[in-house]
Amino acid sequence: MISVEEALDRILSRVAPLGAELVFLAEARGRVLAAPIFAERLLPPWDNSAMDGYAVRAREVRIGQPLPIAATVAAGHAPAPLAPGTVARVMTGAPIPEGADAVVMREDTDEADGAAAFRIVPIAGAHIRRAGDDVRPGTPLLGAGDRVAPGEIGLLAALGRTVCHVHRRPTVAIVSTGDELCDPDRSPGPGQIVGSNAYALAAQCSEAGALPAMLPLVRDDRAAIRTALAEALRADVVLSSGGVSVGDFDFVKDALDDLGVKQEFWKVAMKPGKPITFGTLDGRALFGLPGNPASSMVGFELFVRPALRRLGGHRVTSRPRAPVLLDEPYRHEGMRRHYVRAAVRRDGDVLRARPNPRQGSGMLRSLVGVNALLEIPECAGLVEAGARVVALLLESI
Ligand code: AMP
Ligand code: MG
Repeated sequence: MISVEEALDRILSRVAPLGAELVFLAEARGRVLAAPIFAERLLPPWDNSAMDGYAVRAREVRIGQPLPIAATVAAGHAPAPLAPGTVARVMTGAPIPEGADAVVMREDTDEADGAAAFRIVPIAGAHIRRAGDDVRPGTPLLGAGDRVAPGEIGLLAALGRTVCHVHRRPTVAIVSTGDELCDPDRSPGPGQIVGSNAYALAAQCSEAGALPAMLPLVRDDRAAIRTALAEALRADVVLSSGGVSVGDFDFVKDALDDLGVKQEFWKVAMKPGKPITFGTLDGRALFGLPGNPASSMVGFELFVRPALRRLGGHRVTSRPRAPVLLDEPYRHEGMRRHYVRAAVRRDGDVLRARPNPRQGSGMLRSLVGVNALLEIPECAGLVEAGARVVALLLESI
């Protein structure tokens, strides 16, 4: 049995960002750049006004002395040079006429009879946004590994880019094993339950930015599992559900052996989710997750999600952690670290956590309304109400 940290280290040391693909800028949000971006343009492209006002030669301005308005320049217009002794009415974003060296805001002027009088004397350069102030050609703007967020998208669009190279999103094949499983659109026969894990796992994959596919249910048969896993290996990542423990009909580990997958571990010191295996084959990552729904969910969060994030090129692969105050006592039993499904809420400056009352690893309702996993350390014993524990936050709170 290995620790959560060691298991995660082994996983992350065996996966690396996937290659690049070209995507439309409008679809790039949340992706990770696979190549650096250098500016090829000046931004702004020319000197322009930061205000609605008057473009002037600063040294010609005297307080209260009107100067004739020679032109009105809107954004999008190309102005003529400014004749000496005149001013131009300019709008925000309008090019500065040649010869002008400052803008006086409209609020600091009085306009009458085609002339503008000034209440202030500007300094040269006032309210002018210089060409290249924002971006100059050749400047390294974004690096490989940078996440594409709305700000990055706006910048790339301004540079005239409509596509960008990003890391591929990992494809994930999900294989549910178990003689008892049926699909949700069938009435379960005697002894059958719906194989719900694949649906929950697919949703977790999508949330992590991966592309899941659910494969047909597989019986608890070594050869059948081997065949299904071999098929699943067309994806970047294979997730199996169930059959990874020590039961008489748990054949996933054997099937992985048959395929030549080197399994790095198959037991992690945590609850829920102790039986879990990970290995690689020809650059593909395979995870054998336990069948209990809570174990499956927690195993995915702790191990699969970071791997998917890394494959997708993300630098940060882990969930944010934050101290939270327990609403009620939690009795920790045994030696393994517990991951307690909880609802965390903000209360003024602190986060408070209510552990879900149903913690059984087979209980589907234990996963409803959960936005955090509380990490209760090994051998913690009784953790009092009000005690501070660490939470992995599954969403922003
Ligand atoms: P296993 O990991 O195969 O020993 O299964 C542990 C428990 O999880 C058993 O009660 C199974 O019936 C249940 N289980 C296995 N696979 C699934 C699944 N895909 N969806 C829901 N429950 C499952
Ligand atoms: Mg089973």
